[in-house]
Amino acid sequence: MLFQNNPYFAILILTALIAAAVAILAWRRRTACSASIPFILLMLSIASYAIVAALEAAAIALPHKIFWSKLEYVASGSVITLFLIFAIHFTHRRQWLTSKNIVLLCILPIFNVGLVGTNEQHRLVWIGVLPCSHSTNQVIYQHGLGFYWVMTCVYVYTLAGSLLLVNAALRPSLLHRQQSSMVLAGAIVPMLGATLYMLDLTPPGLNITPMSFLLAGTIYFVTLFRFRLFDLVPVARDTLIESMSDGVLVLDLQNRIVDINPAAQRLIGTTARCIGQPLRQVFSRWQDIVQLLYAPEVVKTELWIDAVASCYVELRITPLRDRRKRSTGRLLVLRDVTQQHQSEFDLRQVNERLQEQLREIQKLQTQLREQAIRDGLTGLFNRRYFEEMLSQELTRAARESYSVAVILMDIDFFKQINDTYGHQGGDLVLQEFGKLLRHHSQQGDIACRYGGEEFVLALPTVAMKDAYQRAEQIRLSFQAMRMKFGSATICTTLSLGVGLFPDNGGTRESLVQVVDHALYLAKADGRNCVRCV
Ligand code: GH3
Ligand code: MG
Ligand code: MG
Repeated sequence: MLFQNNPYFAILILTALIAAAVAILAWRRRTACSASIPFILLMLSIASYAIVAALEAAAIALPHKIFWSKLEYVASGSVITLFLIFAIHFTHRRQWLTSKNIVLLCILPIFNVGLVGTNEQHRLVWIGVLPCSHSTNQVIYQHGLGFYWVMTCVYVYTLAGSLLLVNAALRPSLLHRQQSSMVLAGAIVPMLGATLYMLDLTPPGLNITPMSFLLAGTIYFVTLFRFRLFDLVPVARDTLIESMSDGVLVLDLQNRIVDINPAAQRLIGTTARCIGQPLRQVFSRWQDIVQLLYAPEVVKTELWIDAVASCYVELRITPLRDRRKRSTGRLLVLRDVTQQHQSEFDLRQVNERLQEQLREIQKLQTQLREQAIRDGLTGLFNRRYFEEMLSQELTRAARESYSVAVILMDIDFFKQINDTYGHQGGDLVLQEFGKLLRHHSQQGDIACRYGGEEFVLALPTVAMKDAYQRAEQIRLSFQAMRMKFGSATICTTLSLGVGLFPDNGGTRESLVQVVDHALYLAKADGRNCVRCV
């Protein structure tokens, strides 16, 4: 008989069955989460470890026992390596797992297998193997330095994976914390088993390490169902953060990059290798941002980034805190707002063009208004404007009881000027008289070209005597004027009629009629004179 049935065999086969069952269930529940495959492989290697250990426990012949024992080292080497790989995946650090690093991770377990495989040559792992005193088929492996070296490797790998899980267990998300704690518990149980065996605290010849995976497997079984390992947080994290168009960066308390998603890598023009580096180094071109990291509240700013493609990026820095409000790091969210900037720029340009057009329209409107009230030849107000202004002035004068004098002027024998010097000569005289009239006007006076060669001047708050004097001054000035027209000099005279509101007329029409009559009198009296009614 090659094998002997014993209780250890049964326990280890049960352990293998549980690990295989967890692997199958995990395979069925596997999701987009990248940690699920290393986990399944880990469970399968635990199952094979337990099977090999069961066969070792059941084997009777010593060479068989040693053969299965050596295979145990192959299986346990793959368990610790896969545990570390799983922990790295589970804690979102799979960028560490480059092909080179995976090879490096495998070197020690392979070396250890070689060490055990060649024990007969050096006896470093087992100095000797003693049969157990009782009637069992168990043997006692007398451990040498090589065994303790292998155990050190087991501790280093398990401890490294556990530290990652401890770190993840301290994360703010409750579900993630529970998941990480359970996975950690699953790792600690076999470690305790291995420690007890190493310290010879187990019954002679009994290595309880593979058996302790019975408990570890049960813990993983519960984690898979109760805490939905792979179901929620990792999937949400992988599919949401990894695929979102916004860049996401997580910093620790020392402002070192702990996590960065592909969108952030694209925007900043970096790779996942920047993980672990200080932000100050990665953001060397945007030193101002580093100052903002110390703000206690959420800060929003904008950056101009021309790393890969030029773009405007909105940066939002949110301090991260745990449940006790202690600062745990910072979250940086980067959003490409170039399109928004472009739209705003376009809108501003359209707005500026509209403003320009509006200014042009307003200018034209002003010009139009001016043209509507001004006489083009002399620049004086026109008759329509005069009538409007005089009506307003008379209303105010009636209300405030003051007088308004009106002087109506007509150039004498103007037709003859036209006939003598042509229309241009006549226009020159009209323009020159316009200037003269403006010169004689004071603030508040209304000077207008009334039509043809007739002009009118309204003088608010001026008495008849003063109006007459002003008319006389204008007449004398005009009479004295010598207007150069080519080689000729034109000079002519002016007839003026003066009337007063309210004495000579209570309305605009009656007043103008009276003043017109006065002008007629001036013409009748031989022209070049001023007449009042
Ligand atoms: P009176 O001394 O009686 O006022 O004689 P007059 O020749 O000045 O008056 P009349 O009414 O006979 O002639 C006015 C002329 O003024 C007739 C018209 O052709 C001319 N006239 C009217 N408007 C303009 C103008 O804008 N430019 C020029 N050059 N002539 C004009
Ligand atoms: Mg006339
Ligand atoms: Mg005239």
